[in-house]
Amino acid sequence: MELAGQNGDKRGGRVFLIGAGPGDPELLTLKAARALALADVVLVDDLVNRAVLVHVSPSARVVEVGKRGGCRSTPQAFIERLMLRLARGGKVVARLKGGDPFIFGRGGEEMLALRRAGIEYEVVPGITAGMAVPAACGIPVTHRALARGVTFVTGHGIDGAAPDWKHLAASGMTLVVYMGMMHLAAICAALLAAGMPPNMPAAVVEQGTLPSQREIIATIATLPLRAAAEEFRSPAIIVIGDVVALAHSQRSEAPSMERAA
Ligand code: SAH
Repeated sequence: MELAGQNGDKRGGRVFLIGAGPGDPELLTLKAARALALADVVLVDDLVNRAVLVHVSPSARVVEVGKRGGCRSTPQAFIERLMLRLARGGKVVARLKGGDPFIFGRGGEEMLALRRAGIEYEVVPGITAGMAVPAACGIPVTHRALARGVTFVTGHGIDGAAPDWKHLAASGMTLVVYMGMMHLAAICAALLAAGMPPNMPAAVVEQGTLPSQREIIATIATLPLRAAAEEFRSPAIIVIGDVVALAHSQRSEAPSMERAA
């Protein structure tokens, strides 16, 4: 697929919904870099490593629409209105989001707003934290002998409702939990209550793929206390499943590799 406008044609405004990748600026796609270079205006979310802005044209305007830019998160409705107004005014807009725009990133809502408004858009996928962060610790999330697959789940639902941990515990899937730090103890307790063995390997990885990355490799029984003691905070990914035993980590309390054998 070719990026619209790359031949220098002067069409009207349009929006690129771009995934900036998980943190390491080298994990941005070539397509994202090219779309950033085409943009007149870049709307940047929280969690996006500002280092990726090197690809933006010097004449472009960069607008911070996340917590880091101001005091509070800019309301979603405001961001959507701004994006539509700019595109209607003929601007090429790059809407830059952490990871992948469609994985817990509200990119779907923004795409629907663009579609409703009849504005041309293109989605540029990004490497989501749930893929990249376990990989950065040497955790192969679907390692054949150990997992049937992988489930991406949020620890923090829009309606406050918890995911069905009982069902997930029995699924044989590696569980990768986004936005779960507030509920880490409750998540591990729910999995234990659902019959997951207490020595099931579990990890939490903070600031994954960045030089500041920290990780704890433990078990569902021990992870909450360790994460609290070491003051792990968001952004962090929780990974639960036998594949976690394959992680490389100096900090490991070494869940036995026999589980993996
Ligand atoms: N669209 C993003 C996710 C946004 S939700 C993506 O595809 O990656 C925000 C959550 O993503 C955080 O609470 C955290 O769970 C996770 N996350 C994002 N970047 C991370 C990083 N560098 N390290 C660990 N977790 C990260």
